[in-house]
Amino acid sequence: VTVGRRVVVVGASLGAVSFIEALRKRGGDHSIVLVGQEPHLPYDRPPLSKQFLLDQSAAPPLLKPAEWYEQNEVDLALGQEVTDLQTQPLSVTLAGGERIGADEIVIATGCRARELPIADQVSGLHYLRTLDDAARLRALFNTTGRLVVLGAGFIGLEAGAAAAQRGWDVVVLEREPSPLVRVVGAELGRLCLDGYLREGVDVRCDCSVTGLLGESAVRGVTLGAGDDLEADAVLAGIGAVPNTEWLEGSGVAVDNGVLCDRAGRTSVPGVWAVGDVARWPNAVTGRRDRVEQWQAARDHGAIVAGNMVSHAEEATWKAPPYFWSDLFDAKVQFVGHCDPGASVRIFRRDGKAVAVFGRERLEGVLTVSAPRALALGRRHLMSGATYGEASEWAENALAA
Ligand SMILES: Cc1cc2nc3c(=O)[nH]c(=O)nc-3n(C[C@H](O)[C@H](O)[C@H](O)COP(=O)(O)OP(=O)(O)OC[C@H]3O[C@@H](n4cnc5c(N)ncnc54)[C@H](O)[C@@H]3O)c2cc1C
Repeated sequence: VTVGRRVVVVGASLGAVSFIEALRKRGGDHSIVLVGQEPHLPYDRPPLSKQFLLDQSAAPPLLKPAEWYEQNEVDLALGQEVTDLQTQPLSVTLAGGERIGADEIVIATGCRARELPIADQVSGLHYLRTLDDAARLRALFNTTGRLVVLGAGFIGLEAGAAAAQRGWDVVVLEREPSPLVRVVGAELGRLCLDGYLREGVDVRCDCSVTGLLGESAVRGVTLGAGDDLEADAVLAGIGAVPNTEWLEGSGVAVDNGVLCDRAGRTSVPGVWAVGDVARWPNAVTGRRDRVEQWQAARDHGAIVAGNMVSHAEEATWKAPPYFWSDLFDAKVQFVGHCDPGASVRIFRRDGKAVAVFGRERLEGVLTVSAPRALALGRRHLMSGATYGEASEWAENALAA
């Protein structure tokens, strides 16, 4: 262990906290500065589109209590934006001009919600990425009316479900021919939505929105066909963008996210990246995708901590990418990678489903309300099962 080195972590969320937790567990006695743009202590995002919206009295889902940062000797700089990263010597600059020197830097700046290409600020137009966004939506749901959700991705669908449960009339509009195409492909997208449609939420695919109605407050949306759809509020769930602008000119290589090697190092010595902002090679899928998934941020943080304190064999990302979503009562879980060109086989029984996809080899497994099957599917994926073997397994996976 190198004594007294300083690590500056930029972005105060899941990737950052799992890095710090793992670093201290591994005995790293670095001094740690954690800089985050949001004013809040680091919190967990998945509840923000789920339970948090349902319960007006739910507390912010903090990742760690305030004392934890003190106990772990973390110097917190919240409400501070980092605007630059300099090399030789390594340092970062805060928006106020203060410069913080570092021996190591961990980039954990995640993503922000992709915004609609409109210049004006309009009230009633919502995004959902931060605690403040969720608090605004939750307060809105105390009233009643019609919510139009733009984009049938997981976040839009989850928030739409919460709105429906709080008595709102919800219409989800999707440009693609089926929901969740970008994440799991068309066939699996429709599968995930089975239960959703049973709840009576109106999901319209092949539906492009050409504009918003209303001057300073949203009154609805204009559809491509020339029809208007009135709304009291609009939630745009149209994806997320990695926060990398502050790295321009720094020498850290960026291409749809910060490019990392197997160990989590960027192109600049002493600089690492984790979580939603980072593109790491995954040993199981063989791909270097940027994945916006809770488990990946956890994994990356722990791997970087290990590699920072140990000069023995490098740790790499060996668990297949994984995410889950809750759509009303359905728990959707997905492990592996989904390629539009892969074959898919879907098996259902009693409201549960297992889908496997791949070519020669199994590439991914999606389950609906079948967590045991998901765990077995992950094992097949890690052992390099063929698509044929996996299909045979999946056919019987839901048998009682
Ligand atoms: C509403 C919602 C629901 C989700 N649900 C699920 C789910 O069910 N399952 C699942 O697997 N995943 C889910 N996710 C994804 C999961 O939350 C993310 O993968 C995870 O938060 C990534 O953590 P991160 O630390 O990489 O980045 P983030 O959580 O994006 O945090 C990055 C932080 O860096 C800060 N920052 C950015 N730029 C700067 C700067 N220049 N200076 C200082 N600070 C900066 C940001 O303000 C932010 O606080 C959900 C995400 C959202 C938003």
